[in-house]
Amino acid sequence: MKYRKIIYIVVSVCIVFAIVCGVVLYQMSHFAETRVAFLDVGQGDAILISRGSQQILIDGGRDSTILLEQLGRQMPFWDRNIDIVIATHPDSDHIDGLIGVFKNYSVDQFWHTNAPKDTSIYRTLRDQAKNEIGIEDVIAYSGLSAVIDSNTKLDVVYPFTSDVSDTGDINDASIVTLLHIGDEIFYFGGDLTSDIEGKLPVSDDITVLKASHHGSKSSTDNTFLQKTLPRDVVISVGENNRYGHPHKEVIENILSVDAQIFRTDKNGTIVYKCAEEKCRVDFE
Ligand SMILES: [Zn+2]
Repeated sequence: MKYRKIIYIVVSVCIVFAIVCGVVLYQMSHFAETRVAFLDVGQGDAILISRGSQQILIDGGRDSTILLEQLGRQMPFWDRNIDIVIATHPDSDHIDGLIGVFKNYSVDQFWHTNAPKDTSIYRTLRDQAKNEIGIEDVIAYSGLSAVIDSNTKLDVVYPFTSDVSDTGDINDASIVTLLHIGDEIFYFGGDLTSDIEGKLPVSDDITVLKASHHGSKSSTDNTFLQKTLPRDVVISVGENNRYGHPHKEVIENILSVDAQIFRTDKNGTIVYKCAEEKCRVDFE
């Protein structure tokens, strides 16, 4: 009887150990690659760039609960730190979910602009970044970079200056970044409109372009697509959203440059897994 009890304990300990090892090995396997996850947060944007224990979160969608659940799936369970949180612009479908991130994770840097929009959530985020010890509050504009490793870098290419307080359309105050992973280039433009897209210093070899403003026809026109010639276009959009995003004209524009289209409302979370400078796409 006594021996049987000991065997049960040993077997139980072995099973728990095997499960823990399996989870840790699975999560460690993510460390060898750079991952770019367009999180399915409904109508809004949230993009997580990660390599090892480093993470950069660009926007947070509208809902903290949805965002935290998505982050939980993408980040190792022991990692409660995000290196950089970027608020491209202060519209609720980009920043409201970030409140939960500041409550549940430690954040090293908060990148934003001085875009003129005064909502209580935006105020709370900025106050937290200013007052909380350990968070560096950064006004982002062209020239700012985050080096992830010798092969991987995130560059801010817009706004051109630190002061966007007189921007008429808040979408045109969006922080625009290019992520370089070897020769692969990802473009993230918030909700920028075609007026500014035409002025950006971008090349004609974009690997993955996030369609700005969820595929609204105010963005991603033919001229910009001809200039960037993306291989893939990702549209972050909610199912049956009331705005009619993405606009069919935008879809036609994208197809006219032979780019593949992936959409969070149809594909769920879209994850690019990049190892040895080559990226493959997966849906989770
Ligand atoms: Zn938006």
